[in-house]
Amino acid sequence: MQITGVTAYSVDLLMKEGAYSWGTQTYASFDSTVVVLDTDEGLRGYGEICPLGPSYMPSFAGGLRAALDHLGPALIGLDPQATDVCSTAMDVALKGHPYAKSGLDMAVHDLAAKAAGVSVATLLGGAYRNRVKLFRVISRAEPEVMAERLVEYREEGFSQYQMKVGERLDTDLARIAAVTDVLADTDTLAADANTGWRQHEAMQVAHFVADRPISIEQPCLTYAECLAVRPHLSRPMILDEVMDSRAAIRQGASDGAMDIINLKISRFGGLSGARRARDLCVDLGIAMTIEDTWGGEIATAAIAHLAASTPDGFHFQSSAFHDYHGRPIASGGPVVADGHMALPDGPGLGVEPDWDLLGAPIWATTA
Ligand SMILES: [Mg+2]
Repeated sequence: MQITGVTAYSVDLLMKEGAYSWGTQTYASFDSTVVVLDTDEGLRGYGEICPLGPSYMPSFAGGLRAALDHLGPALIGLDPQATDVCSTAMDVALKGHPYAKSGLDMAVHDLAAKAAGVSVATLLGGAYRNRVKLFRVISRAEPEVMAERLVEYREEGFSQYQMKVGERLDTDLARIAAVTDVLADTDTLAADANTGWRQHEAMQVAHFVADRPISIEQPCLTYAECLAVRPHLSRPMILDEVMDSRAAIRQGASDGAMDIINLKISRFGGLSGARRARDLCVDLGIAMTIEDTWGGEIATAAIAHLAASTPDGFHFQSSAFHDYHGRPIASGGPVVADGHMALPDGPGLGVEPDWDLLGAPIWATTA
């Protein structure tokens, strides 16, 4: 089988709650890119990449679309069943820019699994479970509003939550106090600062949460700052933004810098790199939040397949991003219920784009 065409579409993902706020950022929608790979055997593979706006990570929608000029032609003529060969070809064609490769690598995996007649989870080692534990993000808001949201989400069936902080220390402490006050014994909560605190502020948070049942995620911008805070924190530490390579994961494990990492598929260039990072974490005894920067049904399906194929005890939680939007971009996305998402039926990712919604392509190349 050979890849004969690469096509890209853009779609705006509108927030059901009106906006999404973290750190000092607020967005009403996110600019997602859906990629389609065609083959000489008629099979089509789908992938999706959606940066969380241009200011979250060093990634943005315009960048990944410009990168298609280099990455798309590199895949033409390759056999998508050779997933590592396709991944390497993209690395040879363009150094770095892992997020730009993620949707294409996802589509390669969709094709490889479809060709084998299996799910992507099977391709990634096999599904340990057909339901994936979710967490619900509590978007940054006033402290009492965030507490009310947790109660609402619990009534929807969630028991794991990530509250967004990192705006300013005094309000963040009030947010943590208000939300931890409404926690039930069965709830699990993390406060994600998304790099927003200076080291001295994170030290105060570490002291403040000593007797509160809450984990802290990515308190500061740099690894060195997070590492300095770590010995002062009696609660679990989750590292996210700085865990951007397998070398970083090895260093973090060696330093005892974290208990859990947030593994985002696009930060590792797609499912090829994310699987290697996942397997490394299992070897090192580090549990994972498995998700992506953002996305609709297609990216969320990829999350579900990677999470389901992660051994018991190492999968901490995942995001079902399509649950935050009002308008599906594909059919077959993971069904969300009782704080879990169901693994889509294969073969492949198990999703089919809504072609009417995607409209005309924004980019294409053929053999
Ligand atoms: Mg995070």
